[in-house]
Amino acid sequence: MASGRYRRVLLKLSGEVLMGDQPFGIDPDTVARVAAEVKAAKDTGLELCLVIGGGNIFRGMAGAAKGMDRAQADYMGMLATVMNALAMQNALEQLGVQTRVQSAIEMDKVCEPVIRRRAERHLEKGRIVIFAAGVGAPYFTTDSGAALRAAEMKCDALLKGTSVDGVYDADPKKVTTAKRYQTLSYDRVLSDNLKVMDASAVALCRDNSIPIVVFSIREQGNILKVLDGSGTFTVVQQEGN
Ligand code: UDP
Repeated sequence: MASGRYRRVLLKLSGEVLMGDQPFGIDPDTVARVAAEVKAAKDTGLELCLVIGGGNIFRGMAGAAKGMDRAQADYMGMLATVMNALAMQNALEQLGVQTRVQSAIEMDKVCEPVIRRRAERHLEKGRIVIFAAGVGAPYFTTDSGAALRAAEMKCDALLKGTSVDGVYDADPKKVTTAKRYQTLSYDRVLSDNLKVMDASAVALCRDNSIPIVVFSIREQGNILKVLDGSGTFTVVQQEGN
């Protein structure tokens, strides 16, 4: 189980986590609350990489649905993730946590480019590395970015904080009898098309044996509970584990 055995994890938060009760955008109070939780996780001695989505600001698919060129819209989405990364960096540094933002789209006035060995050094020095702009290419999502960074940074797990407390066999918001899985195999997620992360992200985690821990970030204090194994979550991992 997840209990205290992680040395290094990648925490993926969807952009919506930052908007609080607002319909879109960034709510500074909410960012501060999430940052405090991230700090608490870091204070346990964990090495922490962060990836934050951009869905609270812009999603490429939504733009494409309204007639925009998909790739162009996706680049806008990637820029949204950089804004979120900067907001989280600000909130963490206000709490005294050292951070670096590394973006897959280079913008040297605001952050570093993604350089794996440099990121490695930041983690050794106790800094949190926030990876922005996903994989840096359109037609992907930040879930794929999270899986890619988790693999190259050799993270022990990918923690996915969402608005649902795990993976269910039906939509728990619509079906009252929906059952939450404790564990699931990567192949089951892919074959049943369960909405955990997009397929490319799940396949990358499977091929690199990175467990995906899905939990609710809306519940206060949950990151710590998930780390010590006491929280509510679903683990996607190799069959037989
Ligand atoms: N995006 C992209 N390539 C990437 C990562 C993100 O094109 O590698 C774009 C894509 O348009 C996506 C948007 O950025 O919709 C925001 O990311 P995502 O939807 O993953 O955010 P989340 O749902 O996690 O908030």
